[in-house]
Amino acid sequence: MSLRLHNFGGSMRSHLPASMLAPGMHQEGDGHALHQPVLVLNASYEPINVCAARRAIVLVLKGVAMTEEENGHFLHAARFAVRVPSVIRLLEYRRIPHQSRALSRKNILLRDRNTCQYCSTTLPSGELTLDHVIPRSRGGLSTWENLVACCHPCNRRKGNQLPHEANMKPGREPRSFNLHTSRHIMRLMGHSDDKWRKYLFY
Ligand SMILES: [Zn+2]
Repeated sequence: MSLRLHNFGGSMRSHLPASMLAPGMHQEGDGHALHQPVLVLNASYEPINVCAARRAIVLVLKGVAMTEEENGHFLHAARFAVRVPSVIRLLEYRRIPHQSRALSRKNILLRDRNTCQYCSTTLPSGELTLDHVIPRSRGGLSTWENLVACCHPCNRRKGNQLPHEANMKPGREPRSFNLHTSRHIMRLMGHSDDKWRKYLFY
């Protein structure tokens, strides 16, 4: 299945089941717009997450969420077109636990905004690593408070030294990724997208 993105005219709307769209979308590599961030609102309109447009479209086609704002692009296949969302809202309210999010490389890079915490360089995820502020060899744990985004040169330079030994301290105190942090990140991302603002700046 060939899927292309267009940002011009037409208002065809598709309600095809996700099973027809998802496989083609997963094979498709050209869709920059499919990786655009989409704001996810709870049924209560409370912002709860950010996901890639591709995932948002699947949620809408599955009937789990509805599009609240569109981004002006269409996802085109041979016989149908889907509007690419900018904001979606879950149809059923989901209880979001107030505990921290899962500790993962992705979430640490997100928390640190893909910025090396030692030299403040912002890099693509693939060019960053995670640094144990207190090295594991010195008893440091793999926790939110001890892991930071780090570029490879800084990571090599710091090696197995403690921050004061290497004279390298993280720019920000590493914290767990709680709901407050994630809303802060959503706001930062939302600055570039007018359509997000009314949901984030209330
Ligand atoms: Zn660095």
